[in-house]
Amino acid sequence: MKKKENMVEKPDRRRFLKQGLLLGGSAAIGGGAAIGSAMIINNGVQKKRDHDDEIVNKIRALTPGGDVIELDEVQAAGLKMGHAHTNRSMRKGVPGRKFVMVIDLSKCKNERKCQEGCRSMHFLPDDVNWLKVFKMQEGESTAPYWMPSPCYHCDNPPCVKVCPVDATFIREDGIVLIDNERCIGCRFCMAGCPYSARTFNWSEPVTKGEIHESEENCSASVPRKMGTVEKCDFCTSHLERGEFPKCVTSCPNGVFYMGDMNEDTVSNPSETIRFSELIESKAGYQFLAGLGTEPSVYYLPPANRLFPFEDDKKH
Ligand code: SF4
Repeated sequence: MKKKENMVEKPDRRRFLKQGLLLGGSAAIGGGAAIGSAMIINNGVQKKRDHDDEIVNKIRALTPGGDVIELDEVQAAGLKMGHAHTNRSMRKGVPGRKFVMVIDLSKCKNERKCQEGCRSMHFLPDDVNWLKVFKMQEGESTAPYWMPSPCYHCDNPPCVKVCPVDATFIREDGIVLIDNERCIGCRFCMAGCPYSARTFNWSEPVTKGEIHESEENCSASVPRKMGTVEKCDFCTSHLERGEFPKCVTSCPNGVFYMGDMNEDTVSNPSETIRFSELIESKAGYQFLAGLGTEPSVYYLPPANRLFPFEDDKKH
């Protein structure tokens, strides 16, 4: 796999201003933020003379090896802003689209083929799932049911608001993605997500199969990187080609529908339905809508079930 070179540019004044805002934001949230592979431990800018006797602004940072180093502000800004243009087109989204997913809980029997498909699509190990299937039961006297839970690609995503380096973002087509070239692993987004949709990559990813250079982009979530946050990406690279996400095609029971809110249609491999009518007729809802996150994933309640509930102890 051919590796791209980091583009570290000398920042101009506007970038310095942006850098200042980023540092200020991270201090407000957690008191420190990482730049590239180093963690800032002192956001206070110190003015020092460098070897050419110029006054330069210095930032103290902690390296992964535990050493305290000093970076001048230009270096720090370059590291942080070096990928400012990487994946720029991926950040725009598909023009005119507003992607939406519908999950029909009445058809889910916990086969977890969606999870298997997702893991194989994204080269995930067996113990990491971007799509979780929860057993839900509101109370002892109520009926349990299975609930597949991907990232909800919220229109008002708290994860995006707390990211100090703009690594996670929402596109015009409603998809929330992560640029892991920019992700510094601070995990504020994991704390910000009320749905526990995000996972942290603790170890060096094992990539099954070949990843082509053309696929190295955040809309395909490749390559995965240790020390960064990951999550369901709605298989954006598939959507951009007009194909279904892998969970939709992997489910043998037609639980998942994917579609476009602007066209008011959703489809699974066997049917296409008007989105608004489906939600209206089957009392579709958004999970924890009261939080104000405005998910792009809707659920149909587990009424008139296709299968009786079975509590499979294997999972
Ligand atoms: Fe962000 Fe969580 Fe919403 Fe996904 S489900 S967009 S990770 S807040």
